[in-house]
Amino acid sequence: MKDDSFRDHISTINEDGSRHFIFPKKPHGKFYDYRTYLSWFLLAFFFIGPFIKIKGNPLLMINVLERKFSLFGSMFYPQDFYIFVLMMITGIVFIVLFTVVFGRIFCGWLCPQTIFLEMVFRKIEFAIDGDRIRQMKLDKMPWNSEKYRKRISKWSIYFIISYLIANTFLAYVMGIEKVYEFYEVGPIANPGGFGALVIFTVAFYFVFASFREQACIIACPYGRLQGVLLDRKSIQVSYDYVRGEKETGRAKFKKSEDRSTTGKGDCIDCNQCVEVCPTGIDIRNGSQLECVNCTACMDACDSVMDSVNLPKGLIRYASEENIDNGEKPSFNARIIGYTTVLTILLIVVASLLFLRSDVDTTLLRLPGQLYQTEQNGDISNVFTYKMVNKTNFDKAVELKLISHKGEIEMVGHEAIVVKASERYEGTIFIKISKDQLNRTKNKVIIGVYEEGELIKKVKTNFIGPMKF
Ligand code: SF4
Ligand code: SF4
Repeated sequence: MKDDSFRDHISTINEDGSRHFIFPKKPHGKFYDYRTYLSWFLLAFFFIGPFIKIKGNPLLMINVLERKFSLFGSMFYPQDFYIFVLMMITGIVFIVLFTVVFGRIFCGWLCPQTIFLEMVFRKIEFAIDGDRIRQMKLDKMPWNSEKYRKRISKWSIYFIISYLIANTFLAYVMGIEKVYEFYEVGPIANPGGFGALVIFTVAFYFVFASFREQACIIACPYGRLQGVLLDRKSIQVSYDYVRGEKETGRAKFKKSEDRSTTGKGDCIDCNQCVEVCPTGIDIRNGSQLECVNCTACMDACDSVMDSVNLPKGLIRYASEENIDNGEKPSFNARIIGYTTVLTILLIVVASLLFLRSDVDTTLLRLPGQLYQTEQNGDISNVFTYKMVNKTNFDKAVELKLISHKGEIEMVGHEAIVVKASERYEGTIFIKISKDQLNRTKNKVIIGVYEEGELIKKVKTNFIGPMKF
């Protein structure tokens, strides 16, 4: 009977409940190289991001305290909440569909936790402490000069990087200018800001130096959802048990033996895939909660297969169904269907984001007012307007009637100047000649112009006299 006891506990907790610290072997191979190149790009993006401004706005900012958000230079305020709700719904649908089709590709290739842990902190560890065996020896070693030297160097570098990450993270949360301010005024004048910096530095240090893969296994809600999102058709890092076990199961490699005639599987039970695994699992047991699809076992096994002259890909990207049927992952109807839905969702959200105007305008007819007849016979309605400038520049705008011939009379002032990131409110009269109004409730369109250029159209109802 298949031994499924590994599913009763997680790989990083011992039977007595203590932590089983993982010392993974340094991966080498094609996929590790690709992930390294991608990580350089993502890390550069993360650290340079706060310095990049688009139209004077941060590239990305999630300022929860002041309720200001920026995405690719477009500012969002509480009145844009509906876009956020749509984005969140789209995001959830996207994650579900993406995971159903492509498994945990995000975890292995894009997740900041994996990128920082595997591509920054772990690499520093390999450089200072050495590979797996040396790390294990060092861990067991009594505190001598070598251990002090290595531990102090490693922990100091970890601390500096955690501090840099904390600064960058705060720059995304409150803007780079606020972070500059911390340093200009000092910790005594700004204990809150400095406290946040210390808390985040310690938190990042703890996560990357100690908590590590536990974040993926225990804390990450996305990781916990895998059990319900993945099915037999989901593509993920998989061990080809059909090829690996064959009739008589895996067996150690013997140089002189013709393996194809023995019924032995292609897995030579070298344990390399287990030793490189940063979450300490054996992928040969099948799909597991702990697997972050980091591809380290794929590289390790490919290198083993190469050395024993067997085809690569014993561990590869494939669905359970692909493995059972001995087929390659292909763009079947399900993948094409889900990918189409994902693409449409992305286009809808991108359109919502990028087709917004810089100056959001709402126009409301003054409650309780119908219409007035002017001395020249024109009909006028009184409106209040609210504008929000979503940029970091003052905006001088004017309102013009587009749909009808007529005029807009500003109450109390002539020009509208909406200060950067601020709101502006006022009152206007819209005047339209009587012969242009066919009904009691007329749809009118008002244009918001900046330097003569139409930047937004606003629709509203204009009340006219009853027609008999
Ligand atoms: S690395 Fe490949 S051959 Fe070695 S134990 Fe893992 S699956 Fe088997
Ligand atoms: S099983 Fe393979 S892909 Fe999954 S976490 Fe371990 S090494 Fe990475």
